[in-house]
Amino acid sequence: MPASSPLTPRAPGRSRSSHKTAPRTRLWLEFINTDAAPLIPRGDLLRDFNALVRWLVDMGVVDQERASGLDRRALLQPAAATATLVDARRVRAALRGLAERSLVNVRVRDDAIAEINRVLGRSTGTRRVETRDDGSAVRVFVPTGDAFAGLMIPIVESAADSLVINELPRVRRCADARCTRVFLDTSRNGTRRWCDMGTCGNRAKAARHRARSRPAVVVGADRERL
Ligand SMILES: [Zn+2]
Repeated sequence: MPASSPLTPRAPGRSRSSHKTAPRTRLWLEFINTDAAPLIPRGDLLRDFNALVRWLVDMGVVDQERASGLDRRALLQPAAATATLVDARRVRAALRGLAERSLVNVRVRDDAIAEINRVLGRSTGTRRVETRDDGSAVRVFVPTGDAFAGLMIPIVESAADSLVINELPRVRRCADARCTRVFLDTSRNGTRRWCDMGTCGNRAKAARHRARSRPAVVVGADRERL
């Protein structure tokens, strides 16, 4: 049994946390997308430490019991909570580099791997497999040291998994110039271009339709005025 501090209770055998991550996505890519300003009114989903904890709960990484412990500790140690948030954003920036530029820039890739190893190396804990309410299994990291330091472990492990199985060539940034979301292209031909067909994909489709149906004479008239 791992020694866990009262503020970092081990997840119960049957986790109550929901797991909203679709099977085809990756936790680290969803984490990167929390900074996707164009789609989020206030610009950054991780606006404070509390928001970071709520996001981890939503993703099924942290259960409610542990989240309550984190919130209590954040009240007692606000500076440590803020430092953890700043660090999470730093990890996120490195992971965005890994997702977008690591295949064309070795330095970016090496920096991201160094960042992953920094996170993996600074926290001690226990790895476990636990079952969810729906019967599916999930790997859980239970920190035994600094609870705040362990929060990024599942995220960087997810990125490490993508590196190890060499799926970075299938990681893409949305083709919509206004959208910064990244995604894993699981299409058979590897030709998916948009983060989501319901939003960016639909906008592109509508734009193509407008371009096709616009009378040529109007285009000419517009050019005249430019
Ligand atoms: Zn998009």
